[in-house]
Amino acid sequence: QARELPRETIDYQAALQSLLEEGTRMVCTGRTHTDRVCRFQGLCYSVEAGEFLFLHSNASLMLPSLGPRRFQPALLDLSSVEDHNTQYFNFVELPAGALRSLPPPLFMPEVALITNRFNPDNLMHIFHDDLLPLFYTMRQFPDLDREARLIFMEGWGPGLHFDLYQLLSRKAPLVREQLRSLGSLLCFPQAYVGLSKVTTWYQYGFVQPQGPKANILVSGNEIRQFTRFFAERLNVSGTEGRGRGRGPAGEEYIVVFSRTLNRLILNEAELLLALAQEFQMKTVTVSLEDHSFADVVRLVSNASMLVSMHGAQLITSLFLPRGAVVVELFPYAVNPDHYTPYKTLAGLPHMDLRYVAWQNTKQENTVTYPDRPWDQGGIVHLDRAEQERILQSREVPRHLCCRNPEWLFRIYQDTKVDIPSLLQTIRGVVKAGLGLGKQKWVSGLYPSKVREARCQASVQGATEARLSVSWQMPWNLKFVKVKEVKYEVWIQEQGENAYMPYILTHQNHTFAENIKPFTTYLVWIRCIFSKNLLGPFADVLVCST
Ligand code: UDP
Repeated sequence: QARELPRETIDYQAALQSLLEEGTRMVCTGRTHTDRVCRFQGLCYSVEAGEFLFLHSNASLMLPSLGPRRFQPALLDLSSVEDHNTQYFNFVELPAGALRSLPPPLFMPEVALITNRFNPDNLMHIFHDDLLPLFYTMRQFPDLDREARLIFMEGWGPGLHFDLYQLLSRKAPLVREQLRSLGSLLCFPQAYVGLSKVTTWYQYGFVQPQGPKANILVSGNEIRQFTRFFAERLNVSGTEGRGRGRGPAGEEYIVVFSRTLNRLILNEAELLLALAQEFQMKTVTVSLEDHSFADVVRLVSNASMLVSMHGAQLITSLFLPRGAVVVELFPYAVNPDHYTPYKTLAGLPHMDLRYVAWQNTKQENTVTYPDRPWDQGGIVHLDRAEQERILQSREVPRHLCCRNPEWLFRIYQDTKVDIPSLLQTIRGVVKAGLGLGKQKWVSGLYPSKVREARCQASVQGATEARLSVSWQMPWNLKFVKVKEVKYEVWIQEQGENAYMPYILTHQNHTFAENIKPFTTYLVWIRCIFSKNLLGPFADVLVCST
């Protein structure tokens, strides 16, 4: 009988025996390589080959069983970036007996989550591509708990913000290079491979110019569950208890997030003063260089407004309280509508942030750096004509990721912010003023179907007829507070595409307009909460006059 072993001990002989007999067992979710996450038992990794190994035995299991489609183009994406050809996962197949000719395996006792980070030097990428997807992949599979071991296979060193990855689990994450020091053959009795993409909202422009993802599936509620967890792990407490938008002393304030290396705001002191004066609020600056990440989160999570140049530091608007304002500043010739990761974030349903984009339109207020290396926006390596064209251009044309020199040249400019124009832009959005205290958030719950829908037809002479339709309120209405309940009724003549829509406040109505005798009508009814929460249609009614 199996004894309950403490979780982290492995009976080496038993583990080896089981691997030889049972081989690798894989069961995946997802229909295509871009939405697949796989659970493995008995997956191995050969440091020498730099490959994962699938061991075949009589008891091994591979679902989906793709045959050669496993290479078209891969089993799955190892990072949360969709279908990126440097991020594919596959394994090498071997008979389990080959284990006898391989170095003795080292078994990883914890349940592992094996993924790629996409760009662990950039804070936006860290949160959007890695931390949020890791957090929600761990919530999808209950054995990926606080004892799970994260393993990053992309090949980078730990990176500047490794401490953020360490918050997700009590076990220190491992990067690929560290696996070497553990042994030459590693085997995972339990491992998940891949990353859920359900929380990502932006695509970076690998196949079409960057923009919001086509089918966004995350809302502010899930973002806040994540940030609450994260703030707690960072020991930043009281982001809610103290009342929204208040500092320790209770007063509201504005945060200007500055960059200190490049893409500078050249008149930051003037900007701080102007904001403080305009909104009658204390205004503070933060930067990644001068503040710990915990301090940044502490400040941002109680701020009424966050002002910053476009850039990865704006991902910290994840932590803003509901009702806060995000002000994103764009350098000369960079069109805000073409670069919207932070606008899209602020606009997620229930994120409840207000968003303002401001662009420098005055060439005399920009400082360019043509002599810098290409990756910091330098252009002197280009031929003369191309340099000249870029210098003359008033807007960077839409482009693909990631090395467009005109884009890099423009995005790494410094900017002297034109204060009157910025204030005017902000006023346009913040009409009712800053201030977070008083907002009421709608519940956002959708109505269920209306019940007991019926219709009765009557004919009045040769040309007139009526349809009397009635229904009961949706079942869930008695449990939710709703400001406004309305019903939508569509009347469609059978066989026609067009229909007549009506918005009604009562639960019955007699339709006489445009109703013909001796005709069959389809009647569709649904409930609407608070103007825009449209419920499902009840089963269609068929009424013949
Ligand atoms: N960064 C910073 N201060 C600077 C410049 C960059 O903290 O003066 C950070 C930035 O927030 C990001 C990383 O360094 O996390 C890389 O910046 P880069 O300009 O390459 O990317 P971007 O901000 O445009 O996404």
